[in-house]
Amino acid sequence: MFRKEKAMPKGIVMRFEEFSTKFVQQVGKKEGAISPVMINSASFGYGDSETGEGIFDGSVKKPLYSRMGNPTSGQLEQILAQMDGGIGCVATSSGMGATAMATISLLKSGDEIVSVGGLFGGTYSYFSETLTRFGISTRFFDVDELEVIEAAITDKTKILFLESVGNPNMRLPDIKKIAAIANKFGVVLMVDNTCTPLSVAPIALGADIIVYSTTKIITGNASSLGGAVVFRAIKEGEDKFKTQRYAEVHPFIKKMGAMALIANAKKRALRDFGMSANGFGSYLTMLGLETLPIRMDRIVGSVEKVALALNAAGFTINHPCLSGHPHHERYKSQFSQGCGTLLTIDMGNKEAAFAFLNRSKLITITANIGDSRTLGLHMGSTIYRDFDDVTKEFLGITPGLIRISIGLENPDDIIEDFITARGL
Ligand SMILES: *Cc1c(COP(=O)(O)O)cnc(C)c1O
Repeated sequence: MFRKEKAMPKGIVMRFEEFSTKFVQQVGKKEGAISPVMINSASFGYGDSETGEGIFDGSVKKPLYSRMGNPTSGQLEQILAQMDGGIGCVATSSGMGATAMATISLLKSGDEIVSVGGLFGGTYSYFSETLTRFGISTRFFDVDELEVIEAAITDKTKILFLESVGNPNMRLPDIKKIAAIANKFGVVLMVDNTCTPLSVAPIALGADIIVYSTTKIITGNASSLGGAVVFRAIKEGEDKFKTQRYAEVHPFIKKMGAMALIANAKKRALRDFGMSANGFGSYLTMLGLETLPIRMDRIVGSVEKVALALNAAGFTINHPCLSGHPHHERYKSQFSQGCGTLLTIDMGNKEAAFAFLNRSKLITITANIGDSRTLGLHMGSTIYRDFDDVTKEFLGITPGLIRISIGLENPDDIIEDFITARGL
């Protein structure tokens, strides 16, 4: 059943039940092979030269070459686009591939990014180190610095980038308010929704582009690295993409209309950088996607149960379901389907954190999140080891911080294991 149904704000559809039906029906077929047909061919024969010409000019809808699109990935793309109310989706080789494709396809040297909340370590390095080398600068803000965010937007700002839930700081953005700022200035709002597929619907809340690491909860079992970008349609009449700020997209709008952002991403990023998904990866991702709603529903319930029980047992837990969390009210009103699989525990120091992780019988120690199994990782010695102290403080990385991704195990077993592993 739906959780906390009464708390649902308008504009967000209750989606766990809706997609329980849609996903299994769309991934499976009524005739012939039921599980998705996996096409792993890198290239495709055109039959005759006229057809080849048509494929290249876009008048014939047949596969061109797998870097530009693969039929199995195409099925996954259609399902994900529908999940988020986008006009289309492009699957990629990884979540970082998705972020790279979505951003590079819009940016040029001299442009600026305003990054709000989060931030996943890889995305932080990509913005602060790699894009800087190409003359693209990023400024980073907390989710509640709304006035400062407005003041940071200039004529050169092309992307307002937002993570749907801070990983690992567990801070929650007011997505509608941040979308309103993006729309006021005519800047694209890009949301990394990796932690909260189905639970958060960014396009319905005013975002333009959604990026996913499908490696995480969407596939959900560590079988495949992958990513995806969902794009909204270009609107008839006024649209921020039709302004001078996005002049490079205008030729695609002229040719492709509503679908322009798909063509732009494929030509400006996928074709030239090659972060393309492969058929086998997309096949595995669809097998995971089938059960996403029931896994998500169970895990967001378990996360709350575990957070509340461990908090009561004296652990230092960071999760917005706790009444002392600064975004507790926002969690209840805007994240009524949960905020994903994560919570964090501060063990006070690195030694205590290592001892806890090593003693736990259930935790798999790894850098992944969103798995069927409960995963855990000490942050300071791993993902954030190379970050300086100021950055660590901004990202909420304390010396004893452990990130936990709750899995499908019985939550009572998780609670018991954690209390035993603390070994007081
Ligand atoms: C893991 C992750 C990514 C990167 O995804 P990969 O598939 O590992 O490349 C991006 N954003 C978030 C929030 C993530 O958790």
